[in-house]
Amino acid sequence: MERARRLYRLQELDLDEEKTRRRLAEVEEALGETERLRSARKAVEKATEAVRQWTVRQQDLELQVGALKKKIADSERRLYSGSVRNPKELSDLQAEVASLRRRLERREEELLEAMIGREEAEEAAQQAQEQLEAVEREWEAEQRALREEKDRLEAHLEEIAELRGTLLPSIPPGDLEVYRSLRQTKGGLAVARVVNGACVGCGMEVPSARLQAARGSELVFCGNCERVLLVEG
Ligand SMILES: [Zn+2]
Repeated sequence: MERARRLYRLQELDLDEEKTRRRLAEVEEALGETERLRSARKAVEKATEAVRQWTVRQQDLELQVGALKKKIADSERRLYSGSVRNPKELSDLQAEVASLRRRLERREEELLEAMIGREEAEEAAQQAQEQLEAVEREWEAEQRALREEKDRLEAHLEEIAELRGTLLPSIPPGDLEVYRSLRQTKGGLAVARVVNGACVGCGMEVPSARLQAARGSELVFCGNCERVLLVEG
C-alpha cells in the first residue's frame, strides 16, 4: 500500500513537472517581440517615409514656384520698361510671360496638392505613432507578466525537483522500473486510484479480492489496464 502511494506521489510530481515544462515552453515562446509590435513599428516607418516624400515634393515645388515668379517679374519688367520696341520681340516676350504664367498656375496647383498630401501624411504618421505607443504599452505589460510567470514556473520546477529528490530514495528500484515502463506504455499514467470500487485508469470495477490485496504490502495491478492500483483509506 505504501509502495503504491509513493509511486502515485511520484507520478503526481512527474505530471506536475510535465505540465509546468509545457507552460514554461509556451511562456518562453511568447517572450520577445510579437508580430503585432513589429507591424505597428513598420507602419510608423512607412508613414514617416510618406511624410518625408511629401515634404521633399513640397519644397521642390516651392523652389519651382519661386523661380517662375522671379522669371515672370523679370520678363514683365522688360516688357513694361519700354526698352523692347521691336514688335516681334515684344510679342515673343508677351507669349513667354503667358506661358510662364500657365506653368506657374500648374505648379501652384501641384504645390497645393503636395501641402494637402503632406498634412494628411502627417496626420496618418501621428496616428501610427499613437497606435505604436499603445501596442508597446500593452506589450510591455504582457512581457512583464510573462517574465513573472517564468520565474514562478522555474521556482516551481525547483520545488518539484527537491520533492522528487526526497521521495526517490524511499522507492525500491524494482518499483521504479515498473513505474517507468508503465508510464511509457499507459499514456503517462502508471498508477491509478480506485474510486468507488473502480480503477480510475480504465473505469473497470476491481474485484474485492484484488482490492483486498491492494491494501497489502505488495504492488497490485488492475486486471484490465494493468496499472498499479492505489486504494485510498
Ligand atoms: Zn484499470
